[in-house]
Amino acid sequence: MDKIVAKKKFGQNFLKDETVLQKIVEAMPNNDNKIVEIGPGLGDLTKYLVDVKSVEAFEVDTDLCKLLQKKFDKEIATKQLHINCGDVLETWQSSLVDEDYDLVANLPYYIATNIILKALADPKCKNILVMVQLEVAEKFCATEGEKVFGSLGVITQSVGEAHIVVQVPPTAFEPPPKIDSAVFLIEKRTDRSDENFEGMLRVAFKQPRKTLMKNLSVIYDKEILQEVFNELEFTQTIRPHQLSTSDYHQLYKKII
Ligand code: SAM
Repeated sequence: MDKIVAKKKFGQNFLKDETVLQKIVEAMPNNDNKIVEIGPGLGDLTKYLVDVKSVEAFEVDTDLCKLLQKKFDKEIATKQLHINCGDVLETWQSSLVDEDYDLVANLPYYIATNIILKALADPKCKNILVMVQLEVAEKFCATEGEKVFGSLGVITQSVGEAHIVVQVPPTAFEPPPKIDSAVFLIEKRTDRSDENFEGMLRVAFKQPRKTLMKNLSVIYDKEILQEVFNELEFTQTIRPHQLSTSDYHQLYKKII
């Protein structure tokens, strides 16, 4: 087979640092769930995953699919690995596979947020251990009071707990990306479900430097908001990142 050249349009930056690969494997939740890997690439992470669990992989690049089918012919024959060749976003209906799974992957960054939000909503997905752009990892792991605390942080805290496992420099990849990366883990307790709650969050955090009152009054009646803020003892000048996840749930119950 010809040498594989990384394709920018598929967000291909292959993780080559063995220490980081080990850290991902060590951070995997201890359970019997299947592993779903999105974007196995050259299979550098896959080779560790198939050693410990059965893996369902989704890869869009047909050249890489061929390479993986050859490289993992034994694991495919014993059904330890199954490769779906195609765009994972097209395959994904309400659930990605029909049994409980953990998502473990170095994700394609251009669709990483979309994939994580789908995994949070997928009832079969129990844990999410992924590498993404550092900035995105920080948003999912942020807590109340932090500048980057926004709708992604509230959505994540509403379904479980998240933390950054390790920060990863560009030198860990081939070719190196222009940005820093991080691996983070979300341990789910429940599923993301309420689209209307998320709609309220989008409005609440639309202009993060403005007051929450100002943002919300774009779609909610200001007098009702003032009443609810008084009842919940939120100051009228509070900024969106200063409320906690449970504050947002209380606010939502009162204003819908
Ligand atoms: N996991 C490998 C590693 O760590 O070296 C590769 C990671 S690379 C950042 C992202 C991978 O996702 C690439 O293999 C790319 O072809 C694949 N990919 C990109 N878009 C995809 C999509 N829509 N569906 C499935 N795989 C996709």
